[in-house]
Amino acid sequence: MVATAMVTLDDIMAALDRIRDDVRVTPMQASPSLSQIAGGPVWLKCEYRQTTGAFKLRGATNAVARVGKVAGVTTASTGNHGRALAHAARARGIPAIICMSRLVPQNKLDAIAELGAEARIIGDSQDEAFLEAIRLQRDEGFALIPPFDHPDVIAGQGTLGLEILDQVPDAATIAIPLSGGGLLAGVAAAAKALRPDIRIVGISMQRGAAMAASLDAGHPVEIRELETLADSLGGGIGLKNRLTFPMVRDLMDDLILLSEDQIADGLRHLAQDGHRVEGAAAVCAGAVLSGRLRADDGPLVLILSGENIDPARHAAILQEAS
Ligand SMILES: *Cc1c(COP(=O)(O)O)cnc(C)c1O
Repeated sequence: MVATAMVTLDDIMAALDRIRDDVRVTPMQASPSLSQIAGGPVWLKCEYRQTTGAFKLRGATNAVARVGKVAGVTTASTGNHGRALAHAARARGIPAIICMSRLVPQNKLDAIAELGAEARIIGDSQDEAFLEAIRLQRDEGFALIPPFDHPDVIAGQGTLGLEILDQVPDAATIAIPLSGGGLLAGVAAAAKALRPDIRIVGISMQRGAAMAASLDAGHPVEIRELETLADSLGGGIGLKNRLTFPMVRDLMDDLILLSEDQIADGLRHLAQDGHRVEGAAAVCAGAVLSGRLRADDGPLVLILSGENIDPARHAAILQEAS
């Protein structure tokens, strides 16, 4: 059922035309070890090998291509969206200011600066950083590009869905790491338009999953953010969420929530298979290992969404006994 999908297959195909030259087609690899556990073929979509280390370049590039005449672009994300926006803006010769709080670690700040954007340090919280991004939009002619709840961002992420069905046309299920829902909304809109029978499964962590809590409540709610190994899946969905909440609600067939141990299991298993990914990208493998995500009814595609993890942290998780 593609009822209230507000980003359409046409939007996503137009996005692909727009961003084709700026993003990589990432590899799709079979996983014999996970296939054995899942009872059918498991494929790994290695999107962590995208430029800037995560799929977010797709949405950011599409959004930057569509901003029109602006003084620059801005956002308050310090993670993969901030990096993606910095890169996408530089590729188009547009200034970018990534707003962040004083608490953001130096390595994240350096990563943004290396990509040619200004890292603007404002206040002691992400909320204060966000107010600066709003001010830049209101007073200085910048376009504020949010990390997920924006039609051009969703359409850009949706190009990953087109690519997956090119590579595994008979996919029965796509498993997708879920936070704000831009990735899931886009991929599901593309995949269900082309293959209405395909199953879309979202995977989040048990600790602080804002979309899961919002779906339970029937409307966007705020919950306390907790520390998690899947740090790219943290954060709220926005109380004024317009697009990703209804799209995820209508397009997602199942949602699986994982413990921190299950996420670590997924990360270790993927590392043994040669895939060095961050916690958020390991949740789909963790769901297979937990026995809750199966491939009995046909090929299962797992999206490995990003690779940006502190190397010391990655090494420490590999050391832990599972
Ligand atoms: C942003 C992100 C996600 C979640 O994407 P949403 O669109 O917020 O649901 C998953 N994995 C990685 C690596 C990310 O950076």
